[in-house]
Amino acid sequence: MNLTIISGIEVSKKIKEEIAAQVKLNIAKGMKTPHLAAVLVGDDGASKTYVNAKVKACEAVGFKSTLVKLDENTTEEKLLEEIKKLNNDTDLDGFIVQLPLPKHINEQKVTQAISPLKDVDGFHPESLGKMLLDLPSFLPATPMGIIEMLKHYNIPTEGKHCVVIGRSHIVGSPMSVLMARNSYPGNCTVTLTHSRTKNLQEITLQADILIVAIGKPEFVTANMVKDGATVIDVGIHRIEDATKKNGFRLIGDVKFDEVAPKCAFISPVPGGVGPMTIASLLKNTLLASIHK
Ligand code: NAP
Repeated sequence: MNLTIISGIEVSKKIKEEIAAQVKLNIAKGMKTPHLAAVLVGDDGASKTYVNAKVKACEAVGFKSTLVKLDENTTEEKLLEEIKKLNNDTDLDGFIVQLPLPKHINEQKVTQAISPLKDVDGFHPESLGKMLLDLPSFLPATPMGIIEMLKHYNIPTEGKHCVVIGRSHIVGSPMSVLMARNSYPGNCTVTLTHSRTKNLQEITLQADILIVAIGKPEFVTANMVKDGATVIDVGIHRIEDATKKNGFRLIGDVKFDEVAPKCAFISPVPGGVGPMTIASLLKNTLLASIHK
């Protein structure tokens, strides 16, 4: 079996170069510099890393970026006030509120408070509803990144059986909708699985395309994957590793070493879906700045 390892680093680099070129062109034409803000509530290490990577990516493509840091004990009311300010900030094209939020804050309320015009993470009900109806909208960044990956590698999807593990509102559910759409990549027969699914292995073994967003380290093993499948690993987990300078390394939801030899295509962790999520966020922000 010829194995291709999908490089989210390479694909995202290409997308970021295209965005940077477009930004330069737009500014030369007198258009504004795209501006993205990220709101970080609390001190969670992983969230800080993601937000910092997003801010750095903005700088690299010529965007303006603002980091709004709020204390772990910030009330829901205070966060909603902050969101109102960002909604009304005319220089700002888009913003994200990094999830997960501290337990005392209702994520649904926060997501719904973001103006759909600035919803570059694509989590607002209006964005998700438009996605369902095939109308132009901000697609959720992670599923959108996966779609770009499949496109870049010309991975056939029409008539294929796509199995998605996980039904979160930000990854699994929108992913299942996009893979079933009447377009490329899409036109799959989709099975969406979750914690109540019976005989999961029986189902994953039928997958031509297996998209894993379960949030359990190395959950998918070789005996769950069909020969020649495409496997997309969304999971990110930090595990302790004394040999690393920062004391940890990243692994995914898929046991990469044993699954990869069975695959036609597989996305690794790190260097797979993660960088694509950021590239999609930048793409959505550029769109938001143009269609203001
Ligand atoms: P989540 O909200 O925790 O959802 C996990 C899903 O997995 C749920 O739908 C759950 O089912 C399902 N599940 C749990 N145990 C299962 C089992 N034994 N069999 C089948 N399904 C099972 O996760 P998420 O937010 O989608 O994130 C998933 C992973 O992706 C995490 O590791 C996260 O860090 C990572 N992530 C990465 C990126 C990126 O940019 N690379 C972006 C977002 C998330 P129920 O609904 O029944 O509970």
